[in-house]
Amino acid sequence: MPERIYNFSAGPSTLPEEVLAQAAKDIVNFNNKGMGLIEMSHRSKDFIAVADECEANLRELMKIPANYKVLFLQGGASTQFAMIPMNLLGEGKSATYLNTGVWAKKAIKEAKLFGKVQVAYTSEESTFNHVPKDSDYTVDPASEYLYFVTNNTIYGTQFPAMPKCEKMLIADMSSDILSREFDITPFGIVYAGAQKNMGPAGVTVVIIREDLLDRSPENLPTMFKYKTHADNGSMFNTPPCFSIYVVGLVLKWLKKLGGVAAMEKINKEKAALLYNAIDSSDFYRGHAQPGSRSNMNITFNLPTPELEAQFIKEAAALGMDGLKGHRSVGGCRASIYNAFPKAGVEALVAFMKEFEKKNS
Ligand code: PMP
Repeated sequence: MPERIYNFSAGPSTLPEEVLAQAAKDIVNFNNKGMGLIEMSHRSKDFIAVADECEANLRELMKIPANYKVLFLQGGASTQFAMIPMNLLGEGKSATYLNTGVWAKKAIKEAKLFGKVQVAYTSEESTFNHVPKDSDYTVDPASEYLYFVTNNTIYGTQFPAMPKCEKMLIADMSSDILSREFDITPFGIVYAGAQKNMGPAGVTVVIIREDLLDRSPENLPTMFKYKTHADNGSMFNTPPCFSIYVVGLVLKWLKKLGGVAAMEKINKEKAALLYNAIDSSDFYRGHAQPGSRSNMNITFNLPTPELEAQFIKEAAALGMDGLKGHRSVGGCRASIYNAFPKAGVEALVAFMKEFEKKNS
C-alpha cells in the first residue's frame, strides 16, 4: 500500500487512520460472527448495538438534551434543503434565510416551493467572502425559523458565533459539526451530511426538537416525514448501515481525543498556522474576511491563476492532494476537518513559504 498522503479534500475527506483500519477488518468479519458488518441485517442485535452506541456517543459529545431526536437519514444534506420546509412550512407560513453561499442558496430555492421565504441577508455580491453579524439583518417576526449555514465550505467562511434570535434556529452544519462546542437549545433542527467531519458519505445526521415532529402536513409522503423516522429509531426502512457504523467509530475516536472542546482547540491551532502564513505574506491572499474565517476550509489565492495551477500541481507531487478551490471561486482551498493531522498543515505551510520564495 502506498504511504498515506495529506488529503485536503473538502468532502468526502480524510478519516482517522485507526478508524479505517478497524472498518477494513469489520467489513470482512464483525464481532467474530463469521460475516462482515455490511452483510448483517439492520435488525440484528449486533447492528442495533452499533446504532445505539453511535447515537449515545453523539448525544454525549454534542450535549444533546432528551427532548431532541437524533435521526440517521439518507439522501444527503441536500434532501434536508427540501425536507425542512416540507415539514415546517406550508400555506401562509414563512421563514427567514441567510444567503451565505451556494448551499444556502439551494436551501432557499427549495424552501420557496413550500412557503414564503425572506432572504434577510446576502453576501453574494462579494463572492460570499463573509457572514453577517446579528446587527446586519432583521428576522421577520412572522417567520417559523431562521435558517443559516454555520460553515460555508466553498468560500471558507464560518459564523464565529451562532446568531442570537428570538426565532428558532435551523442550521446546516455539514462542514463543521463536532468541530466546536455550541449550545443546541436555541435550535429546532441541526443537520449535517457525514462526509466531512463524521465519516463516509451516505448518512445525514438530523437532530430535531421533539415538538416539531407533529407539525408536518398530513399529506406528506411517509419517507419525507421526520416523525416516520423518529418513531422507528431511523429504521423505518433499511438505514445506511456501513456509514452509521463508521460514524460510530469516528465518534469513539473523538471521545478518546478528549471530545469536542479538545478538538476545537486543535482546530483553532491548525487554522491559525495557515492564516498566519497567509497574513504574513503579500503573495497569498485570503478569500474570507477576517472575522468570518473558517477553521475548517481555508481559502486563498496566489497572484495569478497560472501560479495557482502550478502551486496545486507541485503540492500534489509532494503528497498534498485536493488543494484546488471549488470551481465557483477558483484559487486554493485547504480543508482541514477534525481528522486532518496538524503535521499536514505544517507541511503545507512549509511548502507555501518555499513556493513563495521561488516564485515572487
Ligand atoms: N451543505 C454544505 C455546507 C455542504 O458543504 C454540502 C456539500 N459539500 C452540502 C450541504 C451538500 O451535501 P450533500 O452532498 O450530502 O447533499
